[in-house]
Amino acid sequence: MSRNNRTCTDCKRAPQMQCLHCSNYVCMDCAQKHVASVNNQINVAQHLFNTKIHLLDQLRENSKKGLDKEYEKMIKQLITERDRCEREIDHLIETEKQQIAQNSKTLLDIPLNEVPAYIDQLSTKLSKLNEKTDFVKIASVPGQLQIRK
Ligand SMILES: [Zn+2]
Ligand SMILES: [Zn+2]
Repeated sequence: MSRNNRTCTDCKRAPQMQCLHCSNYVCMDCAQKHVASVNNQINVAQHLFNTKIHLLDQLRENSKKGLDKEYEKMIKQLITERDRCEREIDHLIETEKQQIAQNSKTLLDIPLNEVPAYIDQLSTKLSKLNEKTDFVKIASVPGQLQIRK
């Protein structure tokens, strides 16, 4: 195809240049239209990019809100757990106290000849209960927050 046989790809008039955008031979008017069209595409794309950049800020906010919600949920669960363990400790201590109170009553009820042996037995048992005693063992399972994408 010789240059003379070429026509503008868009309007079939004599082409004046090879379009920088599509490499087709086009007339001046169509070349300008192509440039305008590309500029418009660039504007649309830039607008899209800006929109997405702002969207990312919004997504950051939303993600952090979601994280906070999980955090608050965890804190609430922890408080519930702590309260439950406190009640359990209360129960264990009260049971222990009641047992000692019961022993104290029993001491008054048993025959005198059995008293020394009973005291001996209780003293041994109670000596194990001292300030160094870990009355209960306290452990925690580490809390975890996870991010997945
Ligand atoms: Zn073009
Ligand atoms: Zn043209």
